[in-house]
Amino acid sequence: MKINFINLQAQYQSYKEDIDREIHAVLDSSQYIMGPNITSLEEDLSNFVGCKHSIGCSSGTDALILALMAIDIKPGDEVITTPFTFIATAEAIAFLGGVPIFVDVDENTYNMDVYKVEKKITEKTIAIMPVSLFGQVCDMDYLNKLASKHNIYVIEDAAQSFGASYRGKRSCNLSTLACTSFFPAKPLGCYGDGGAVFSSDDRLARKIRIILDHGQTKKYTHSHIGINGRLDAIQASILRVKLKNYQEELDIREKVASRYKKELKNVIVPFVPDENTSVWAQFCIRVDNREAFLQKCMDKGVPTPIYYPIPLHLQEVFLTLGYKKGDFPICEKVSQDILALPMSAFLTNDEQSYVIGVINE
Ligand SMILES: *Cc1c(COP(=O)(O)O)cnc(C)c1O
Repeated sequence: MKINFINLQAQYQSYKEDIDREIHAVLDSSQYIMGPNITSLEEDLSNFVGCKHSIGCSSGTDALILALMAIDIKPGDEVITTPFTFIATAEAIAFLGGVPIFVDVDENTYNMDVYKVEKKITEKTIAIMPVSLFGQVCDMDYLNKLASKHNIYVIEDAAQSFGASYRGKRSCNLSTLACTSFFPAKPLGCYGDGGAVFSSDDRLARKIRIILDHGQTKKYTHSHIGINGRLDAIQASILRVKLKNYQEELDIREKVASRYKKELKNVIVPFVPDENTSVWAQFCIRVDNREAFLQKCMDKGVPTPIYYPIPLHLQEVFLTLGYKKGDFPICEKVSQDILALPMSAFLTNDEQSYVIGVINE
């Protein structure tokens, strides 16, 4: 058997009629950038997560850049985040002249250890940027309290957690600003690049809308240095179709995850605290002797990519930050023994059984 890590083709086939019709409606309208499709998608997104403003943009990376620009990050400003994430999190901070300040992760959830954050807050700290890794958020109430005590922002990097919940509220509606990605492989993906910023703060939301369109307040009138960070209408139309089916997909993903958790033996399976639900952006397990394990899985047609083999504090690009091996032992240990299993709402029962059989063997 040959298993797909994420079966995007099966998903397309099942929504094909709606997606093709919506794409053709955009082609017939000739309104390719911004316009009514973006506005409708933003309404749908706001209703889904429960926050006041959703702002479509060009990618998850640009969403992070827009959020940081909206809080006026200046060179030398510090943003506290996790070293166990995709490069974009710290890259967005550094791209704008900010300094990523890392803290180690929690050994159970692999999210930033929120209890290690306060020690890292200095006069230069402007924000805390937790990453809701693999589909679930960290203790956001705790971070929000810390942030208001020190008068700094919380920006959730929710690129992997759109749709997740925490104490009855959704990810993307748990902090002053949140950013997600609609990269095809994310839980809610489009067919190219896309992203969104979320906020219930009117002033920040308005500023982000200005910045993502070249700092333009009205046509050819510019008040801010901005970027070209707009979402295009074809991607928005695809997302609207997928969002209609998203809760159903999440329910199936939860079933797949429960089955994995129940039937997998002799590996460490993910831990989700009672106050959370995960959208299972990745279902990661930890194993002994990973190299041999990966080879066996590959031979049997089960893709098992590693998120993430090199923590950010050990990446060449961040050597200048002065971190060294041993600074974040939990994150370093997890990066050595973790791997991800196939996960999607289109993984058939037989495929699930096959994956479980290969892993247990
Ligand atoms: C994917 C991802 C991003 C970047 O999103 P893009 O849409 O690819 O730019 C940022 N942060 C995390 C945690 C991600 O997984």
